[in-house]
Amino acid sequence: MRLFVAALGTETNTFSPIPTGLGSFEEYLWFPAGSHPEEPRFFTGPIVAARRRAAAGGLTVIEGLAAFAAPAGLTTRHAWETLRDRLLDQLRSALPVEIVLLSLHGAMVADGYEDCEGDLLARVRALVGPRVVVGAELDLHCHLTETMVRSSDLLVLYKEYPHTDTYERAEELVDLALRAARREVQPAIGVFDCRMIATIHTTREPAKGFVARMKALEGKDGVLSVSLGHGFPWADVADLGAKVLVVTDGDPAGAAALAADFGHALRALRGRTAAPMLGHEDGIERALEMPGGPIVLADTSDNAGGGASSDATFLLRRLLERGVGNVALGPFWDPVAVGFCRFAGLGARVRLRLGGKVGPISGDPLDIEAEVLHLAEGARQLFGGGWTQLGDVAAIRIGGIEVLVNATRTQAFDPALFTDHGIRLDDKKLVVVKSAQHFHAGFAPIAKEVLWLDGPGALSQDFARLPYTRVRRPIWPLDPLPA
Ligand SMILES: [Zn+2]
Repeated sequence: MRLFVAALGTETNTFSPIPTGLGSFEEYLWFPAGSHPEEPRFFTGPIVAARRRAAAGGLTVIEGLAAFAAPAGLTTRHAWETLRDRLLDQLRSALPVEIVLLSLHGAMVADGYEDCEGDLLARVRALVGPRVVVGAELDLHCHLTETMVRSSDLLVLYKEYPHTDTYERAEELVDLALRAARREVQPAIGVFDCRMIATIHTTREPAKGFVARMKALEGKDGVLSVSLGHGFPWADVADLGAKVLVVTDGDPAGAAALAADFGHALRALRGRTAAPMLGHEDGIERALEMPGGPIVLADTSDNAGGGASSDATFLLRRLLERGVGNVALGPFWDPVAVGFCRFAGLGARVRLRLGGKVGPISGDPLDIEAEVLHLAEGARQLFGGGWTQLGDVAAIRIGGIEVLVNATRTQAFDPALFTDHGIRLDDKKLVVVKSAQHFHAGFAPIAKEVLWLDGPGALSQDFARLPYTRVRRPIWPLDPLPA
């Protein structure tokens, strides 16, 4: 049996002004066909899962490219068409195959392509025909469009947010695809569109129990897989919204009915699926009143992981104005400031125009004087079993606030983001992380308390105020929940 596998994606925040070009993929995750390392990276689980399965014999794996760009604004038409066509050429050369597996995101938008993954899967299907098993692993922040579903035999989404289960889901996808190719099962997909935009944290109830119920049904009574697509709210696309996807063995009506059951259950939980969000002022106030520390404050609206600039100054400005000390904050993306710190050297005092550079969504720049505490080149942090780049970094002190400034835009994943660079956390009152939820896996264990803040920025949680024009209506909370 022959299996072709590749990985291609990004998460597109259509409100972000940061362009996504070929260089964005080369900078973030870039393995030409056949050059993927032994261990899976976050997002490349299917490649390694298929390879490990092939080691047991009876399966030949042909590996295509693996490319992923940090979440940002619209992908250029050139980048999308180049990578898509390269992947399709690799597949064409690999034919004949019985299985095609792709690791995709599901919320990638390019100039001229509102549904990149649908575009790719439809072309794959056209190339291989109806008998070949086509499957994909998707991020749960996907748009799960009709074209993606129609073109695939199998779609398996991550279940956890933070995405701690990407490799587990990849193994399930490989396993189901092999069974389908051997005609042991006949996958039938049912989808229910909840008509709602939501943030869903699976680390807490009620979403935690919802995920447990999904898992409990898998492998029983002909149910092969149950997935919840949370949707990615910061994309102005027609197919935005939360959806449930069920795969059964040869029972499309059963798949649709079970997807509808879960969908109605999710609708009943609307407004309660995420941690409560506090405004910046309330959040600072609440944290300072709490005994002990560190209190972790999530600056969710400036989360690079959702395409934000990570150079927004709103929260840092407020902390400086209030004279709050004993604070660690990061990662703060400002390559120019990192460069100045490197020129000035360790221990120097530098004048910086910090942040606010990307656009109005970043707020105004901060003109400050800082002490350079630490410098490093090519720094990185761990997430999901793999490394992600921070680029060159400078740890600086502004008054009582220690800031980790970095040159390669990314979110906070792991406390080592600070502690590797001389910023202690155990003695801090506040630790401000630029991240919406992925920080939780690494930071919750060291936090006295975690508070989620929402404010101005590219990832405002106030969905009703986002300037959507393409989203299909009605949809909650822009409209009353449709029947
Ligand atoms: Zn995601």
